[in-house]
Amino acid sequence: GAAPSDSPTIFDKIINKEVPSTVVYEDDKVIAFKDIEPQAPTHILVIPKVRDGLTGLSKAEERHCEILGRLLYTAKLVAKQEGLDDGFRIVINDGPNGWQTIYHIHVHVIGGRQMNWPPG
Ligand code: 5GP
Repeated sequence: GAAPSDSPTIFDKIINKEVPSTVVYEDDKVIAFKDIEPQAPTHILVIPKVRDGLTGLSKAEERHCEILGRLLYTAKLVAKQEGLDDGFRIVINDGPNGWQTIYHIHVHVIGGRQMNWPPG
């Protein structure tokens, strides 16, 4: 992954629609869009519209509990909307060893094929 950073990321531009993306869900708190490099037939990223220090899960504080819950709940809504009725995988990469590359917290929703365990 990449070294941790507090700098703004490309996700801000996706939120502001300065960079195009295929948005599959959006409300006042979160936005979900297709990953540009899908690892499965369905690969969606769910992110908070306001980062509020959440560069990654390892930076979570008590005040983030509500948005963290909303990210997971949105992941479920998106999985349902995308027809992942036989199951799916949720991933949050954190830090270099977790292969995090973008330091704006995001939940990967991956599905449409059989997943393996343990992950690579
Ligand atoms: P990470 O490795 O940080 O967990 O995941 C970052 C994800 O963002 C990667 O899966 C990557 O393909 C995706 N990504 C990076 N840049 C863009 C972009 O400009 N647009 C979209 N839709 N996805 C992106």
